[in-house]
Amino acid sequence: MYSLSFRGFEFLSILNGMTTYCVLAYYYFTSIEQPALEVLRHKDFFSNRDIKGRIYISKDGINGQMSASPCAAEEYMEWLRSDPRFQEIEFKIHTHFEHCFPRVTVKTRTQLVAIDVPVDMSKTGTHVSAEDWKKMLEKRDDQTVLLDVRNDYEWELGHFEGAELPTLEQFREFPTFAKKLKEKCDPEKTKVMMYCTGGIRCELYSALLKEEGFNEVYQLQGGIIKYGLKAGSKHWKGKLFVFDDRLAVPISEKEPAEVISNCLHCAEKSDLYFNCANMDCNKLFISCTPCAEKTQGCCSSACKEAPRVRPFHVTERPKPFRRLSQLSDDKNYG
Ligand SMILES: [Zn+2]
Ligand SMILES: [Zn+2]
Repeated sequence: MYSLSFRGFEFLSILNGMTTYCVLAYYYFTSIEQPALEVLRHKDFFSNRDIKGRIYISKDGINGQMSASPCAAEEYMEWLRSDPRFQEIEFKIHTHFEHCFPRVTVKTRTQLVAIDVPVDMSKTGTHVSAEDWKKMLEKRDDQTVLLDVRNDYEWELGHFEGAELPTLEQFREFPTFAKKLKEKCDPEKTKVMMYCTGGIRCELYSALLKEEGFNEVYQLQGGIIKYGLKAGSKHWKGKLFVFDDRLAVPISEKEPAEVISNCLHCAEKSDLYFNCANMDCNKLFISCTPCAEKTQGCCSSACKEAPRVRPFHVTERPKPFRRLSQLSDDKNYG
């Protein structure tokens, strides 16, 4: 009933005396007439199964991330694919020694990617496989812009060599950025290679760039996750930011990742993210362990003196996104 690879995971976890979980990332654009009904169907499927994660469903499709026991993961993928609407869905799979989410959340969303402008999804960029992306990176000329369309706290931790790293605080700023890019580069002569974590953001941003007049827009299919799984870490620097408890992962499980980011306080190399312990700040920042201890997990001395500061234990770096409603709920991931 389970594929060999999943049996393999379970066998390995027995050997190691530890549990292995599958971490799934997926999205699919398809018309869903009643998203609320789909949410209920999902909730029903998840009850009594070892699954935690965050799944958003809109009239335009589904976007999900979850950790699950190998058996539950396999059942879920089979279940979703057995629905003709999701037959073609592609799952990106990592493994982890524990769950990466505190609970399972399934919600409806008005937009899968918050962008607030109408986007013609029939005009997306050209999808490029991980292997071809690698070749394109190697042949890239100066008429080609390599564009990271993630947030600054994501690309700070890791990105493709030579990528443009625009400071988009929120995904919604992309339409403004697209207009600026047009002033800087001739849209008729410039090739754009864009990438994001799992590919979903590029589905919309590529269409927006095309609407702005960029003729040649390429998007990394399956995003950085798929690239790491298929092509390894060549041309990539640092780690990948993920929106779950792991926060930072090497893009290839086979190769170690160098640390390219620095502590906010002392500038030492670090890739440990912290949520500011001042609950009214909650800023996500990179710190080294000694500085985190010194500042009691705060991003600034002002925050350390603030009235609502969570107690800080250096040995148990607090798991992220627990009280961060503005990060975990208002934004979309992928
Ligand atoms: Zn430091
Ligand atoms: Zn703070």
